Amino acid sequence: MYQGNTIIIQQVFNLIKKFFIKFSSPTLYNIDEMQIIDSPGVRDIDIDHLNLKEIILGFPEILNHSLNCVFPNCSHQIDEGCAVHAALKNGDIKESRYNNFIFLSNQEKSR
Ligand SMILES: [Zn+2]
Repeated sequence: MYQGNTIIIQQVFNLIKKFFIKFSSPTLYNIDEMQIIDSPGVRDIDIDHLNLKEIILGFPEILNHSLNCVFPNCSHQIDEGCAVHAALKNGDIKESRYNNFIFLSNQEKSR
């Protein structure tokens, strides 16, 4: 192999390395109050093992309001006395976040 081939191979290797780093490095995006991690190569994260107490930790705004619910084991789907539902109605909790929480909570209950 002569010197020219070595240089070309090195340049191709550097291009592949740049491509690999660009498209395989996890990236953190801040969107409103959410943080989304784009992690190439990871298709999904298994959260089937989480219970309700662990699920609510992913929703700190819902957790904070849930401390004021009058029901000790509130499902946060009942109108009267539910501080989470009250916060949802007055806009302190985003509807999309609430819906995601309820979706995951219902999945946990059906297991
Ligand atoms: Zn509640």
